[in-house]
Amino acid sequence: MQHAHYEQKHGNGNLRGHKPAGRGNGKKNVEACSYCGEKDEVIPILYGFPTHAGFMRAERGEVYLGGCEVSPYGFFCKRCDREF
Ligand SMILES: [Zn+2]
Repeated sequence: MQHAHYEQKHGNGNLRGHKPAGRGNGKKNVEACSYCGEKDEVIPILYGFPTHAGFMRAERGEVYLGGCEVSPYGFFCKRCDREF
């Protein structure tokens, strides 16, 4: 009889792939604001009911929660406080 190989899950919760947060000027896949022409304050709009992660991102100002009513806008400029 052979012992089943005991596989340990590498699940110590400390080592989650954490990305550097708080870098304001990361390269984001956003369009330039149609009002001020800048991208640095532009965040994508997240439609529908957000996941927990979505909420967290919204808390950090990384996304704008658009709610369940989908509008034709895809981005939100925090400087202008407008969707576009
Ligand atoms: Zn703007």
